[in-house]
Amino acid sequence: MEYNTARQIWDAVLGDLQIQVSKSNYRTWLEKTTGLEYQENQFVIGVPNTFVAEYLDKNQRSLIEKTLIGIIHRNIQISFQVNGGLNLLKSGTEHLAVMPALNANYTFESFVVGNNNQLAYAASVEVAEHPGQSYNPFFIYGGHGLGKTHLLQAIGHQAIARHVNVLYASGEQYTNEFVTALRERRTDEFRNKYRNAEMLLIDDVDFITGKEQTEESLFHTLNELQNASRQIVATSDHNLQQMPHLSERLRSRLEGGLVADIQTPEFDTRLAILKAKAKQKGVDINSDTLELIAQNIRQNIRELEGSLNRVIAYARLIRDTITPELAARALENIGSQTPRLAAPAPQLLVAAVAESFGISPVVLRSEKRDKETALARQMAMYVMKQETNFSLAQIGKELGGRNPATVTHGCRKIAGDLTSNTFLQNRLTDIQEKLHQNTSNPNPEARNK
Ligand code: ADP
Ligand code: MG
Repeated sequence: MEYNTARQIWDAVLGDLQIQVSKSNYRTWLEKTTGLEYQENQFVIGVPNTFVAEYLDKNQRSLIEKTLIGIIHRNIQISFQVNGGLNLLKSGTEHLAVMPALNANYTFESFVVGNNNQLAYAASVEVAEHPGQSYNPFFIYGGHGLGKTHLLQAIGHQAIARHVNVLYASGEQYTNEFVTALRERRTDEFRNKYRNAEMLLIDDVDFITGKEQTEESLFHTLNELQNASRQIVATSDHNLQQMPHLSERLRSRLEGGLVADIQTPEFDTRLAILKAKAKQKGVDINSDTLELIAQNIRQNIRELEGSLNRVIAYARLIRDTITPELAARALENIGSQTPRLAAPAPQLLVAAVAESFGISPVVLRSEKRDKETALARQMAMYVMKQETNFSLAQIGKELGGRNPATVTHGCRKIAGDLTSNTFLQNRLTDIQEKLHQNTSNPNPEARNK
């Protein structure tokens, strides 16, 4: 197989890594990485945030380099780059030229349209072609890995091609930047930057819910942009109604334009996506095999693509041709029929968290509400959400009968604090190590016995 671009090479590496590390480890640290650039002996890996970069650098650098070398057969050094940074480049004139770091693959052309995403797709095209004139704001929501970021960035690409000043930021980046601007007393600069955008794309806007000052800032930003007929597009994992901590005026601002959701794709759409991805990768796979993959992975397109990578990598490693039987072997234990096999048992998980915080598992599950215990409990919620397919209600139950809203709040709190709190980052790394020292068995068959 020939790999030409950084993206293709990295897809192959991810396929290999999926076989080498546990599912949850893969999910937490590797799934959202991309191949950005490959030049001479340098390979640049795109990561969602600095925390992931640091973790991979510290814990998985040699594994990644070894795997990469196994694929391109030459010595190479890796480096990490945080994706989607807010890179505003000043052009020669007084006009601000905006250069957001968008993923080149997330275009309308590479987006497969199905019943599940038709409305969101059509509205995205409309918004990209007539920014500020049709649906403003445009709000897209839907579950993980269903194509929200892809569509959002496709809008961005199209608008940039029409010389629109596009500003792309995740809710997390917006928050971090706002907090920094506050601290460094540079809020005017921050405000100007956002208000100069002709199109503002905010990915995962739900990150900022419950962060009062940031919400207020975003509300004013949106207000001013909208008054000036600048286009706003936001995405979220949650429906606006399911964000109890969102301030009322921001909610009504966001739902004041068009709201479109993306559902999980039907079989035919999953198959069409797999065909498109296989073609993109330049790999010839028969449709029986693609059908098998499409049958097995139902909830998440990122996972669908990951499974395809895994099958390709597996065939390459054992030097066999790709058949449905081989695919079935490669995908054992990761299909949606057996989702929990690879996840650590909840007791183990609670024990690992408790140990890392120096308290007992019994206390963690108890009614005790002092600061330390509450923090450890929230971390347990967060880790359980990441590592298992448990529902919010199940997680709440495992942790001594908390209600789902409390679990959501806990997960968000940790996700937010993790970006800046090194104590929590260290705890999480520690917990991950405890959980995966037994599960990162290179033999996928042995792992779940
Ligand atoms: P989300 O932001 O909703 O979590 P992403 O936009 O990151 O999901 O999509 C996850 C992966 O699935 C990406 O690689 C994306 O290109 C791919 N994907 C999602 N929907 C489609 C689609 N309809 N056609 C082609 N690829 C898709
Ligand atoms: Mg996304």
